[in-house]
Amino acid sequence: MRIESDIKLDFKDVLIRPKRSTLRSRSEVALERNFKFMHGNHTWRGIPIIAANMDHTGTFNMAKTLAEHKLLTAIDKFAEPEEWQKQKKDVIQHSFASAGSSSEDLTKLKAIMKKVNCPFICLDIANGYSEHFADHVKRIRDAFPEKIIMAGNVVTGEMTEQLLLSGADIIKVGIGPGSVCTTRVKTGVGYPQLSAIIECADAAHGLKGHVCADGGCTVPGDVVKAFAAGADFAMLGGMFAGHKECSGDVIEIDGEKYKRFYGMSSAEAMHRHHGEVAEYRSSEGKSVNAPYRGPVSETILDILGGLRSACTYVGANELKYLSKCTTFIRVTQQLNEIYTPLQVSKMHDR
Ligand code: 5GP
Repeated sequence: MRIESDIKLDFKDVLIRPKRSTLRSRSEVALERNFKFMHGNHTWRGIPIIAANMDHTGTFNMAKTLAEHKLLTAIDKFAEPEEWQKQKKDVIQHSFASAGSSSEDLTKLKAIMKKVNCPFICLDIANGYSEHFADHVKRIRDAFPEKIIMAGNVVTGEMTEQLLLSGADIIKVGIGPGSVCTTRVKTGVGYPQLSAIIECADAAHGLKGHVCADGGCTVPGDVVKAFAAGADFAMLGGMFAGHKECSGDVIEIDGEKYKRFYGMSSAEAMHRHHGEVAEYRSSEGKSVNAPYRGPVSETILDILGGLRSACTYVGANELKYLSKCTTFIRVTQQLNEIYTPLQVSKMHDR
């Protein structure tokens, strides 16, 4: 046994120091970025925020609205090839086709790609450290040499490098920070998300790879901190939950409206997709009722407004320069508990 005593930080442990800036208005800030990738030969221009590939948020309705704002959606892996075929080209160009690591997942991915030319693939398993996952990434790269492959999840530099060298373009970073994730309490495993992003981004950028910060953002300021820490993309579940574009019906409890939002390893998800929770594993996710928030456009504008404003505070005229312009200061306050965050904190466990 070893103990590492370096301090590892979460979003709530830091703030961003304002700096002298020549920018006069938020409208001078460009959030769109041009991307070229390490392996896949598609290029992409847009705002690098992704709705999570969860049943609730990874829907084609979400993708339609997010694509209008030039954001991306990771469609959940249960979407059938026929559903993909019904989507407009612009929606497909702003979507990830998701898959796990089984051979059925690969077969389905091939069937989807036969029907549509989707540029992005999202490969994720809860534990990106398992040896067979790197081999799986290699197999997917061989099968789809042109595609932009995102793979994860990991939280350390050495595994970021291994997955990039196995053929991934973007590494998904985050173990345990998710709003409906219970990995940290069930297993004791995890890594504070801000430090994970900083360390993985450093490793990835050295190889010309990219990272996607996945999980733990509860307010627009957290999304800012994720990009400021070096993330190239940010994936959001809870912040996009409870909207009209999410799956599930609106339910009413004591006069308040909600939509059901559950972790993809929760008992609810396992019952839905596999009929049961296998005996050898415990669920590592929970279910909540997310307050119903209507169309997602307003939430998008709130997040983008926060990002533009942060860029003006530190003098970054483009999102891609935010990290270079950032100095974090450590704080002792639990920021998100003081500044009543968006809806995630108001979710009721049921
Ligand atoms: P959020 O933005 O809600 O904080 O985090 C979203 C991320 O949580 C997802 O993209 C995914 O990586 C992770 N996640 C989703 N469902 C589960 C789950 O049931 N268990 C765990 N451990 N993580 C989950």
